[in-house]
Amino acid sequence: MLSYSTQLIEADDIAAVTEVLHGQLLAQGPKVAEFEEALCRYTGSEYAVAFNSATSALSGAYHACDITKDDEIITSAISFVSTSNMFVDVGAKPVWCDVKLDGNIDENGIEKLITSKTKAIVPIHFAGKPVSLIKIHEIAKKHNLLVIEDAAHALGSSIDSKKIGSFSDMTIFSFHAIKPITTSEGGAVLTNDENYANKLKLFRSHGIIKKKLWNSDMVSMGYNYRLTEVAAALGISQLKKLDRFITIRNNIANYFNERFKNEKLFFTQRIESNTITSRHLYPIILNPELHCCKEEIFAQLQQKGLGVQVHYKPIYQNSFYEEKFGKFALPVTNDFYRSEISLPCNQTMSMEDAKYVADTFLDIIHKYTHRGCSF
Ligand SMILES: *Cc1c(COP(=O)(O)O)cnc(C)c1O
Repeated sequence: MLSYSTQLIEADDIAAVTEVLHGQLLAQGPKVAEFEEALCRYTGSEYAVAFNSATSALSGAYHACDITKDDEIITSAISFVSTSNMFVDVGAKPVWCDVKLDGNIDENGIEKLITSKTKAIVPIHFAGKPVSLIKIHEIAKKHNLLVIEDAAHALGSSIDSKKIGSFSDMTIFSFHAIKPITTSEGGAVLTNDENYANKLKLFRSHGIIKKKLWNSDMVSMGYNYRLTEVAAALGISQLKKLDRFITIRNNIANYFNERFKNEKLFFTQRIESNTITSRHLYPIILNPELHCCKEEIFAQLQQKGLGVQVHYKPIYQNSFYEEKFGKFALPVTNDFYRSEISLPCNQTMSMEDAKYVADTFLDIIHKYTHRGCSF
């Protein structure tokens, strides 16, 4: 099965992990700091604080800027649930802005959602395609709001040659197995603000500061959200390969774009020429006349060995959110969910694999040219 996204682990990754396993420190050694420095160098951000997942990193970020009960956060619902979960967890209310047909938050819909309770804007770079950060920062500045990016898909993406990770108050990355690089599970918050960095470090490690000799002091509430040394060693090794992974994924995506450019039944994400996308995903957006047969198409793709997936069921359609905040429907978000299929596009694929994916996808989709859906 060719997966929509998967990891590539090579001999030097395994050697890096083995070296740590043979050493003394499996936790709280030097590798985490080394990984954090490498993340800063790569993104151009001043501080990186590694976590054991992007979910705990998001929680850390929301805590670090004191998001609390009754605050509102403007975000979008085309994301993994944890983007919203972690601020619901601190008592804040998600205010979902509609998306555009590329899956990113519609920057023109943000301003009318701002109230006196709004504290932050939390955009998601869907599939790795950068959101309109310049516009979002203009709005945030005008209304004195924080910008916290969920960049779980977007390590290596950039706008005007500036890497995602250094633009906003805080930026969160994920190193889950299938994200742009992996530490198996892991995440990080990047920031240029020393105060946030210090709070994040306390939050991730019990709120404890070291004093003299054996003495330490717990000064604030904290958890154990630390990344292991083993995971950090894998991250250091993987980060060196990120640009190569992104080149491979972009080569496949560019090949797909070429194969699909005259197709009428679907379209794909258009990438602005001043940006680079990590291509964490390659999303197909089906035209409305194919919405009713998406299940049929999806099943046929899987039968042919294409490990496709749908990103994402709108967060507000999950029963937890419906029970807590009531039923919700945003037109483009709902449409996007009915339209989207992520095709296999990952760094383990050859160009022959890419050709097989494009051939197979087009064969299946062309069956619907005249007859539409079969039910
Ligand atoms: C994967 C993902 C997360 C959560 O990442 P974990 O490291 O698995 O906790 C959050 N947001 C988005 C957009 C994601 O894709």
